[in-house]
This record gives sequence, structure tokens and C-alpha cells, in this order.
Amino acid sequence: MKVLVINAGSSSFKYQLMDMTSKTPLCSGLVERIGDPVGALTHKISPDTDKERKLKLEEAFPDHVAGMQRVVALLTDVRDGVIEDVKEIYAVGHRVVQGGEALEKSCRITAEVKEAIRANIPLAPLHNPANLSGIEVAETVFPHAPSVAVFDTEFHQTMPQYAYMYALPYELYETLRVRRYGFHGTSHRYVTRKAAEFLQKPLEAFNVITCHLGNGCSMCAVKGGKCVDTSMGMTPLAGLMMGTRCGDIDPAIHEYLAEHKKLSISEIDALLNKQSGLKGIAGMNDMRDLHNARADGDKRAQLAFEMFCHRIRQYLGAYYAELGRVDAVVFTAGIGENDDLLRAEVCANLAPMGIELDLEANARRGSGVRSISRPGTLVPVLVVPTNEELEIAEATLAVLKG
Ligand code: ADP
Repeated sequence: MKVLVINAGSSSFKYQLMDMTSKTPLCSGLVERIGDPVGALTHKISPDTDKERKLKLEEAFPDHVAGMQRVVALLTDVRDGVIEDVKEIYAVGHRVVQGGEALEKSCRITAEVKEAIRANIPLAPLHNPANLSGIEVAETVFPHAPSVAVFDTEFHQTMPQYAYMYALPYELYETLRVRRYGFHGTSHRYVTRKAAEFLQKPLEAFNVITCHLGNGCSMCAVKGGKCVDTSMGMTPLAGLMMGTRCGDIDPAIHEYLAEHKKLSISEIDALLNKQSGLKGIAGMNDMRDLHNARADGDKRAQLAFEMFCHRIRQYLGAYYAELGRVDAVVFTAGIGENDDLLRAEVCANLAPMGIELDLEANARRGSGVRSISRPGTLVPVLVVPTNEELEIAEATLAVLKG
């Protein structure tokens, strides 16, 4: 059984075709610069297919439908194709960023669901319109296959109200739904389940702090397998320091910047989203570059690294206090999975909390779920590679099976 996972942006989309018997990808890719005179398509055929190959095409894709039709031609190509007929695609799973309060759970896409996704556009003006166009593309190109929406916000719907409310006039929640929603939910849910399986603990009794550290970064406190708090907010700007996003700051800084730098609200928004974080402090947003610069004695790079780790530790302490008993700490995503220096720095001095790394295990490279803590410590620390596409494909099948 094959499920196509689509993550659509405004002028691009990512796709992955999953074989759900083996739970492995058959191929994946990215169509970019849709609508430009020359667009780009990168298509990777997975080694599991015996056809491993990476193709790069440059041609015009006037719209998302044209891009998807080109992808279908590759999927069914006589030489490079991984399926013979497009009808082999049983279902399409869509990443939808903002489900809001109305769309609590993954669901089959109907006219009402599309309307509800549209109604949430004010809460995710960049993402939800693009996600909707991905849905419409799938309806045009794969009319035989049902589409399912899987929401980034879904895993966080179990937060208690005291955790998701902001201390603003209550009327703003009632009229404009101003509250914390959280993001990266499919990743936090996937790594939570994988960690419980690895430690052989029942999910319903599993308490974990998950750290998703990629270009975007967020943490989650999970109690009994359910999210009770998360660091991102009404938008993905809140919480941890990120590649280019500032994370938590004093909200009064907006007015100060408006007055003294003569910036408009949207200029301030762009500054906080695109010119801040690691980039704002050190001038670079890739953690690998930051490490190279630190090794060369770059003081700003060192400062950015210290700030990044400091903020993670702040949330770790807060979530530890919220959970009371912590069964595991999980690191995931590009930085979380690969950066042993960062993990060591975050966990240094946490032995009194029962968090202590085995520095050799931490430095060892690996691909699957692995423990990096000292054997016998109170709180196991794990690296769990995330797999949002598999999580979306599994949620898609679960919805269709009812
Ligand atoms: P996205 O949020 O875009 O999905 P990723 O999860 O791919 O991002 O993470 C990207 C980040 O992971 C970048 O900051 C990159 O520097 C970092 N990263 C990738 N590999 C390594 C590595 N070996 N060591 C440190 N950081 C890494």
C-alpha cells in the first residue's frame, strides 16, 4: 500500500511516496520556484528500490498542478519509475500547519474541512493557503485517492488551558483565538512513540521532554504520552532561539524598535523571523558553520552557541518541574540528531537532576534510536531520528481505516 505525503509551500512543495508495508520511502523530492521562468525539481529514488538515483531538472512549472504532473511522470517513468500506474497511490497525506481549535485531529478532507483550513488562514497566513493549494493539486492529479490533512498543531491540542492561554485580556481569546497552538506536532508525537517503544514503557504512562532542534526549534513536555506544554506559541516565532528566529523576547521591544529604528510592524516581524536567532548574533544560521567559527575563535559564534544551549536548558528545567517525573529526554531533528557538542553542553551539570551523558555514546555516530546517557542514570537521554513523513502517512491510513 502506497501513500503520497505532500508538504506544500507557496512556491514549492515537498513530496515523499511511502511504501506502508515496509514503512520506507520509495522516493522523495522537492519542486521549487513554481511560477518562475525556470523552476527546479529534485527527485531522489530511495536505495530500498534498487533504482537509487538522484535527478535534478530545471524547467518551468507554471503552477503547482504542472509541478505535480511532472512528478507523476517521474513516478511512473519506464526506467526510473517506482510505480507503474498512478492508481497505485492509495491515499495522499497533507501536512497542514494550522488546524486551530476547530480541527483537532487528522481528518479526511471534505469541502467543510477545506473551509475550516481556510478559516484558519489569519492564524497562519503564509502556510495554510499553500497547504490548501497542495490539497487542490492532489484532488486534480489523484482524483481516485482520498486526501487526509494532518495538522502540525494536533499533538498540542491536549495542553491544559492554563498552559495554552496568554495573560492578555480574555476577550482576545474569545474573539480572535489568541492563544498558544504549538508546532512540529507530528515530529514530537513520532519521537515520543519511538522513545516509549525503545524504553519498553507503555505510552499512556510515559513522561518525556522532547527537543526538536532543526532550523526551527521547539520543545515539548509530554505526560502520559500527551502534550501538556510546548515552547512555540500562537506562531512558530516563540520559545527557543532558532536559526534565524529570536524565540522568546520581551514583547515591549516591538515598541522600542518602532520608535528608535522607525520600523513598521511588518519590518519588525521580518527582523524577528529572518534576521535574528543564531544569524542575528553570529551572522550565520547553520550550526555546522557556527562550530567551525567557534573553533577559529569567533567570539560571537561562541556567544550564539551559549545562548542557544542556555535557552534549551531553561525549558528543560521548566518542563522537568511541570512533569515531576521524567522518563526520558529526547533530542531530534538536524541539530538534535547530529550535534554531540551541543547535546553535551545542554546536559553538562544536570547530573543532580538524574541527567548525565555517556560522552562516548554521545559522540558515536548512529542512524536509529539510541541511548546516549550513562547506564543506570535516572533519566535516559535518547537520540531519536524524526520521520514526519512516516508519521503523516501512518496518520493518513489510521484516518481512512476509521
Ligand atoms: P528543518 O527545520 O529545516 O527541517 P533540519 O532538521 O534539517 O531543519 O536541521 C537543520 C539544522 O541542522 C542546521 O542548523 C544544520 O546546521 C544542523 N545540522 C545538520 N547536520 C549537523 C551536524 N552534523 N552537526 C551539527 N548540526 C547539524
